[in-house]
Amino acid sequence: MRRKIVTPEIETIIRSNRRSFSLEVKPDGRLIVRAPKFATKGQIQAVIEQRAEWIEATQKRLARQYPSLKPKTFTAGEAFWYLGELYPLQFTNRGRPLLELDGVFRLSEQAKDRAKDVFIKWYREETRAITQQLIEGYIKQYHFDVNQVRITSARTRWGSCSGRNNLNFTYRLCMAPFDVIEYVVVHELAHLKIRNHSKAFWKAVEDIKPGYRQQKTWLKQHGALLILD
Ligand SMILES: [Zn+2]
Repeated sequence: MRRKIVTPEIETIIRSNRRSFSLEVKPDGRLIVRAPKFATKGQIQAVIEQRAEWIEATQKRLARQYPSLKPKTFTAGEAFWYLGELYPLQFTNRGRPLLELDGVFRLSEQAKDRAKDVFIKWYREETRAITQQLIEGYIKQYHFDVNQVRITSARTRWGSCSGRNNLNFTYRLCMAPFDVIEYVVVHELAHLKIRNHSKAFWKAVEDIKPGYRQQKTWLKQHGALLILD
């Protein structure tokens, strides 16, 4: 008997001048089908059915990897990001530190009712330490003129650069893999010299961080997952 396909929530079909089909499962479980321009519905359905097992397995794997796009509930076992990895939350009777990462995130029982604030503070301090160290390194090598580094609560912007040479980064940044953090820092540093997104700007980014497009794409694909609320 043929296995029944688990129909993904939304199916997007992208038709183009290609010869073959390709399937992609997004972190939220959606299935994207890339198909030749004149492929029939039946052909597309056949491809999906052929790959049904793969689709289901990939959806399951991603669901584990990206447990949720929903706000955190701060309950035991829930996973939290740090440097591109997910670590489960556990509670401890110990008082201080209120939150610690050693293979798991250990949150003091005492901080249970203000878990979100404690996490934000932790992420803030980590992001500050990491970005500051990176910036110092880049200044030594490339002589940037940085005034102040601030850690913000921005929800959609990873970083920004003000006219007064202040750099801002969201506390969420340290949830991303290290090379993605490097890319964001280099991006904002490059804005100190070139304030737009011209070709010259991207060249300046490339000079410091060759292959940055990979990190840029990662951020586009996964950035929305790096959230607390
Ligand atoms: Zn920019």
